[in-house]
Amino acid sequence: MSIRQQIPLLEALAEIDERLRQVEDDLALRRGGLEALRSEVEGLVKKMASGRESIGAMEKTRNELQLEARQMTQQIDKSREKLGRSRNERESVAATRELEELRKLVRDRDDEVQKIEVLIDRARTSVNEAESRHDQLKKELEGDAEGAAQSLAEREAQRAELAGKREVAVKTIVPLLYRKYESIRTRRPRAIASTHNGTCNGCFIAVPPMMFQKMQNQDEFEQCPNCKRILYYVPAAPKDDGGAGA
Ligand SMILES: [Zn+2]
Repeated sequence: MSIRQQIPLLEALAEIDERLRQVEDDLALRRGGLEALRSEVEGLVKKMASGRESIGAMEKTRNELQLEARQMTQQIDKSREKLGRSRNERESVAATRELEELRKLVRDRDDEVQKIEVLIDRARTSVNEAESRHDQLKKELEGDAEGAAQSLAEREAQRAELAGKREVAVKTIVPLLYRKYESIRTRRPRAIASTHNGTCNGCFIAVPPMMFQKMQNQDEFEQCPNCKRILYYVPAAPKDDGGAGA
């Protein structure tokens, strides 16, 4: 088979591969989008659970501190009575010191409680935010599920159709050429390039003049020395300057 006959077959295959690549990229993107949405929902569920857990733990600590503060306040009352009953300076100094110490302990607990309240508030806000984001995403996922499944199915069908066409197209290509094509395709999405003026239209770099001269006979395929694509000569289209006439 002359390369003149092989060129359109090779171009047809490259065209199919190009469309297949687009469909596959699109599929990967859609699947990735759904996957990302699902994993965000999962992350939010975990975040809400751990947030609620830590709120529970902080509330427990706060309640314990409040209980302690109440008990100490009762002791303060007793110390005050003791101070009132003190019969000499020594007793009065001791009772005053006890009173001061107890007041300080109560103040410390009150400070702790306030700090914890701030943390609890913050944790509640973050759990609430996570909840509303979670509900929104959940709705999105459920609402989109049908539409998403449908467009996935459509693209799957497109891919299957293109894969069928590809199988037919591959059979028309000379095996040696096909092997080269496939090996280039592992590095370049489009493995072929044409030239009409000596510049490879894959990488836009000029091929050596001797090589270009030989190519014009259209006896065999070449490989672009720069991008390694399968390179072939096609004469310029009749209106190659956009009809400017110059
Ligand atoms: Zn090239």
